[in-house]
Amino acid sequence: MMLHIGLDDTDSPEGGCTTYVAAVLVEYLLVLGVEFKGYPTLLRLNPNTPWKTRGNASVCLRLNIEESLYSDIRNVVKELVDEYGEFSCDNTNPGIVFLKGEVPDDVKAYSETVVRSLVEKKLAMNLIEKHKMDYIEYKTGRGIIGALAAIGGTLEGDLTYELLTYRAPENWGTPRRVDAASIIVMDEALSDSTFNNLDEKGKPLITPRGPDPVLYGVRGETPEAVYDAMQMIKPLEPVERWMICRSNQGTNLHYSDPIKVSEIEPYNPAVVKGKVDSVPETIEGGHVFFRLKDETGAVDCAAFEPTGSFRAIVRKLIPGDDVTIYSGVSIHENELTLNIEKLALHETVPKIKYVKPKCPECGGSTESMGKEKGLRCKKCGYRGTVLVEEAIEQERGIVPGIYLPDRGAQRHLTKPYERYGREKAIELML
Ligand SMILES: [Zn+2]
Repeated sequence: MMLHIGLDDTDSPEGGCTTYVAAVLVEYLLVLGVEFKGYPTLLRLNPNTPWKTRGNASVCLRLNIEESLYSDIRNVVKELVDEYGEFSCDNTNPGIVFLKGEVPDDVKAYSETVVRSLVEKKLAMNLIEKHKMDYIEYKTGRGIIGALAAIGGTLEGDLTYELLTYRAPENWGTPRRVDAASIIVMDEALSDSTFNNLDEKGKPLITPRGPDPVLYGVRGETPEAVYDAMQMIKPLEPVERWMICRSNQGTNLHYSDPIKVSEIEPYNPAVVKGKVDSVPETIEGGHVFFRLKDETGAVDCAAFEPTGSFRAIVRKLIPGDDVTIYSGVSIHENELTLNIEKLALHETVPKIKYVKPKCPECGGSTESMGKEKGLRCKKCGYRGTVLVEEAIEQERGIVPGIYLPDRGAQRHLTKPYERYGREKAIELML
C-alpha cells in the first residue's frame, strides 16, 4: 500500500526544522521495514504568508508499506513530532496528514493553490474528509494546510533537489563551521548542475543563519549533483545526518498567470504586466519605489534595500517602459505594494533630453519665454521660429531582459538566472 505522510509547521524562529523531523523519521521508518517511493518532497509554500518569517516549507514522505504496519508508523510520526515540535511558539501549530493510495488530482490542484495564495484550513479539511485521510493536529492545527499541500506536491513538471546536512544537537545555535574554500571549489566544479551556492561577492549562501539544525543545504538539478557536492564540501563540525529532497525551490512555481492591477490581493504572489508610471525614487533606507500602471489602475512597486545591485537596474526605468513585475504582495504604509522578485523588461521607451539651441545672431544662450511661447536669446533678445529645442536621445543603460535581486535576497522559490533553460518540463517555463 502507498502511504504519503505530510508534515508542516513543527519549527519556530527559535529553532527546529520540519525537514529535520522528516530526516529522523526516515531512519525510524527504515527500522520498521518500509520501502521509500522516491525522495522526500520539500515543498516551499506561498512565501508571503504574514505569520511565517522563515522559509515556509513543508515535507512529505512517500512509502510502500504492509497495511498492518500503519498504526505503528502513525505512532512513530506522532512521537517524533511530540519530541521535536517547537510547541512553545504561538505561531507553531503542527499538522500531520496521512494519505493511503495514489494522490488524487484535487489534492494536487490544492497543493498548487497553497503555493500560490493564502488558504483557509477549511479547504484542507474538506479534502481530508472527502478522501477519508487520517490526520493529527496540534494547537490550532494550521500545519494541516501545508502538510496536505506537501502530499499534493508531486512535482510532475519542473523540480530541483536539495541535499540537507544536519548538525549534532550540541552545536545547534552556535556559528556554523564549514570550509568556505571547499564551497567555492564545489561551486566551480558543479556550476552546471547546482545553483545558489555563492552570492555575488563569492560568499557562501548554502549555510543558513539562525538556530535551526541545518548545517548546509545544496541545491541542484539531480540527486547525483547534490550528492557529488556533499563529497566536495568540507564540514568543520560533525554532520549528524543528511537527506536529499525533491523540491519546488528555484522553479518560480509560485507564480500564476499575469493578473490586472485591480485583481491584486495582499499576501499572494502576483505577476502584473504594465507600464512604468513614475520615475523611480529612492527613499530613506535605500529602498526604491515606482508606480506601475495598467488599464485597471496603478500600484506601488518596491525594490527593497537587501535586493542590492538590483536597485540600480530599477532606478534606470522611466515612465512608459513596458514591464512584467513578478512579486509578493505586501502592505507598505497602508498601500498594496509589489515587492519585486523578478523584473521582465520587454521594451524601453527612448529617453529624450531637450537642449536649447544657441542664438543664430550672436551665439548667446537662449531661454524659454513660457509654455509654447518659444525661445529668446538671453544676450541680444533675438526670437524667431527657427529657435526650437533640439530633442537628443540619451543612453538608457538598460536593455530588455530578465533582472533578479541579488542572490541573498531571492526567495527560495525564485528561479535563479542559471536555471533558465534547465527546466525539467519546457511547458512550465516561467
Ligand atoms: Zn543673440
